[in-house]
Amino acid sequence: TIGMLAIDAKGNISGACTTSGMAYKLHGRVGDSPIIGAGLFVDNEVGGATSTGVGEEVIRNVGSFLVVELMRQGYTPEAACKEAVMRIIKKKPDIAKNIQVGFLALNKKGEYGAYAIQKGFSYAVCDQNKNDLLIPGKSYY
Ligand code: ASP
Repeated sequence: TIGMLAIDAKGNISGACTTSGMAYKLHGRVGDSPIIGAGLFVDNEVGGATSTGVGEEVIRNVGSFLVVELMRQGYTPEAACKEAVMRIIKKKPDIAKNIQVGFLALNKKGEYGAYAIQKGFSYAVCDQNKNDLLIPGKSYY
């Protein structure tokens, strides 16, 4: 999945995502990306979040909605992403060891962060001063 979150000069948040789905998926499978609240969620009062990885686990936890709600409660973007990842790990520790799920989030202050189950998740930040700065996302394993 490629997920994008943006904030404009007035503080308006927007987001988008696109996906190829999973390899060897069943015909007709719907992943998390087209489901608002799972693969993508934006609330302009709070911020936005998007996910990548095994969509079934993201859908079960309404992952991007969860990240935004945690930010509403005061979590930083990275802490919110980490909490959403930890819920997936806590519910299915054996499965979580072998899958990737990562979240990316942006809040109304323009702060951003990411967290993934596995290493290797990184994201790019682009603004008027930094052009495509690649940042390694933190991970559990
Ligand atoms: N999240 C996508 C899905 O489950 C897979 C991906 O990361 O592209 O369909």
